[in-house]
Amino acid sequence: MTFLSDRVTKLEESATIAMAQKSRELQQQGIDIISLSLGEPDFNVPDFIKTAAKDAIDENFSKYTPVPGYLELRQAVCTKFKRDNGLDYSPDQIVVSTGAKQCLINTIYALVNEGDEVIIPAPYWVTYYAQVKMAGGIPVVISTDIENDFKVTADQIQNAITDKTKLMIFSNPCNPTGSSYTKSELKSIATVVASTPNFYVISDEIYEHINFVRKHESFAQFPEVYERTITVNGLSKAFAMTGYRLGYIGAPKTIAQAASKLQGQFTSGTCSITQRAAITALLSDPSAIQYMIDAFNNRRLIIYDLLKEIKNIKVNLPEGAFYFFIDVSYFFGKSVNGKIISSATDLTLFLLNNANVALVTGEAFGNKNCVRLSYASDEATIREAVRRLKEAFEKIS
Ligand code: PLP
Repeated sequence: MTFLSDRVTKLEESATIAMAQKSRELQQQGIDIISLSLGEPDFNVPDFIKTAAKDAIDENFSKYTPVPGYLELRQAVCTKFKRDNGLDYSPDQIVVSTGAKQCLINTIYALVNEGDEVIIPAPYWVTYYAQVKMAGGIPVVISTDIENDFKVTADQIQNAITDKTKLMIFSNPCNPTGSSYTKSELKSIATVVASTPNFYVISDEIYEHINFVRKHESFAQFPEVYERTITVNGLSKAFAMTGYRLGYIGAPKTIAQAASKLQGQFTSGTCSITQRAAITALLSDPSAIQYMIDAFNNRRLIIYDLLKEIKNIKVNLPEGAFYFFIDVSYFFGKSVNGKIISSATDLTLFLLNNANVALVTGEAFGNKNCVRLSYASDEATIREAVRRLKEAFEKIS
């Protein structure tokens, strides 16, 4: 028996954070670990955004902010939605939060009752599953595989729908696979959603700008699902502003009001300085961040070529985000140093201890066959990491 609540005892710790922690511990022992485990851009915040943050301090933006965010910022979010996504939102449909992570929990708490089913296509971002459970919802996981670039189809969603289905959560481009949906793929999903009463969708588009193959397509663009969609986005990935903590939603007014009501009791409005910096970030021309996207794309192509040289792994060329999701199932049941590798988790531990490279097990993302490699590191580091991985994989027989 524990004095801690059931809620927290049942909560799973984030596997990505756990792996980062393990790598840090080894690094502190003086071991040269390369961590490709975190989803954090390795760039600094662009100077023009830093200036806006400094100005906010000097101009005394230091008081409590309105719970859903400064009006000027919500107007900037509306401008961004119209400019980049063709979406019409008014400021009362926008809620700004302490990271997209809080946008997600606000929305899930606003919509999900105990026992409601929430469809989560796998591989999914770890937090979706944990947050749905926290809200008392039942995650209904739909599996996809590398042969289909890990994309869920409208038919799979249709087959998962029951009279308890309330919500679906997916990311596009996807963490952990980098897959990006085409307009026609989204349209087929929208048709299924629209034909199911009381079925909502969280479309997490935080990797929107990191898309190497096509213009990003928003789920809410289809009029039949506009009233059913909560578009989640934020500054962490596109502007390398992870520590600033700012995410936002565009949603039907009732849902935005509910999210704001919850936020009023959890955290109140997010940091005043961050909000002022966010206005500058969102109103800047998207070309201002193109250098980061070009760098990610360059690394993506380099790693793809290097990974193809590793025998017996399966790898696809991701279209967005900064991850490779590599199928390593060939190695299950094989042994190394007298130990049998029986899962993706075993394999990540072996690679951490023998190649000194930290990846994240696919099990954390609802896929047992794969491991996630994040390429948010410089080119030399990535080349060295993949060299070590190749050497380690060759030892398994
Ligand atoms: N959604 C996805 C798919 C992510 O990968 C992440 C961060 O890793 C987030 C949301 C959370 O972003 P934030 O830093 O804004 O909380």
